[in-house]
Amino acid sequence: MEGGRESDLGQLLAAARGVYKTAFGGVDPVIAVSAPGRVNLIGEHTDYNQGFVLPMALQMWTVMVGSPRQDGIISIVTTVEVAEESQRVQFPVPVEGGALKPGEPRWANYVKGVIQHYRAGPLPGFNVVIASNVPLGGGLSSSASLEVATYTFLQQLCPDDEDPVAKALVCQKAEHTFAMMPCGIMDQFISVMGKEGHALLIDCRSLETCLVPLTDPNLVVLITNSNVRHTLTGSEYPTRRRQCEEAAKVLGKPSLREASMADLEASKSLMSGEVYKRARHAIGEIERTTRAAEALQSREYERFGQLMVESHNSLRDDYEVSCPELDELVSAALEVPGVYGSRMTGGGFGGCTVTLLESRVAEKVLAHIKDKYSKTATFYSTKPSDGAKVHHLP
Ligand code: ADP
Ligand code: MG
Repeated sequence: MEGGRESDLGQLLAAARGVYKTAFGGVDPVIAVSAPGRVNLIGEHTDYNQGFVLPMALQMWTVMVGSPRQDGIISIVTTVEVAEESQRVQFPVPVEGGALKPGEPRWANYVKGVIQHYRAGPLPGFNVVIASNVPLGGGLSSSASLEVATYTFLQQLCPDDEDPVAKALVCQKAEHTFAMMPCGIMDQFISVMGKEGHALLIDCRSLETCLVPLTDPNLVVLITNSNVRHTLTGSEYPTRRRQCEEAAKVLGKPSLREASMADLEASKSLMSGEVYKRARHAIGEIERTTRAAEALQSREYERFGQLMVESHNSLRDDYEVSCPELDELVSAALEVPGVYGSRMTGGGFGGCTVTLLESRVAEKVLAHIKDKYSKTATFYSTKPSDGAKVHHLP
């Protein structure tokens, strides 16, 4: 079992400092920040439908350590190996009238996008090292944690007004315009606003948030990484988004948030079977998420687990974003008494499942999933943690 310990953060920061000293002439960095990855407990593919999501921040982080420099150059090193790409990149601070553009290496686009859209200035140049224990591309949002860590780092160089909503929105914009991923707001919101011992109910329409306690010592949130990622054509996410927009248009609503199941049934004949199913997932999932938040608040874990299972089935059958590996992991988890619920989490087609269980059966669940899963899974047992932080270097 990996992850989920506060001491891991200290180790990450120490590792980043070590690399910094080697990469940047033997001096110590003066700034250190962290931003967590996240797991979504329920509310999948609802954020871009203006609905609700219920994520929690993980005890897994992207950290950045660095210092300003006076020559207007930004020099970035990542300790994480990303595909075949160079782990080092250097470019001038964008001056007034000029603009950064996305390019190679692609991982740096997440950082560049945040620099480009940062809400204060002028920024100085800087040296920085990035380290992370959020698995890349595993559905735990290493990308948002990288963006939010970057923003938090820039706040130390050139303070802004510290508005958390505006901060999360800039990070989302960076992902849209520099990584070309039209994501919703969930990942950046939870990475900024997460709180220890709490899940965060986010209303993606009003941008209001509500903390829901999740501290019961008899509960475990287990994340299981399928370690597969089916790339398919790469257009699945934008296609689902478009289909939801199409359904809302047919229903005459600004978004599926405003639509009820009754509205959908009444207009079923006006849309294709596929668009109908996508909308049925989104509308049902938005309702399930508010009910799940209530169940968690009143500690009704059986009910919460049931909603997780309904969510998974809907993602598998109506939204069609699951895959055999995720279905196997969920089925295996649900076979063990003491498991409340399990579902795929994140965009789909691979990545992770999230399972809510009684802590006394944790070992049994792990052993059973390992036994049943046709591939090799990785497990993270984790607690809800705080959002982005600044760390004081000794
Ligand atoms: P997820 O957010 O689910 O982990 P994404 O595909 O959205 O998956 O984001 C993963 C990408 O983010 C990586 O391929 C890489 O480009 C970038 N990335 C994330 N963390 C780091 C890091 N520590 N160093 C460099 N690039 C990173
Ligand atoms: Mg991502």
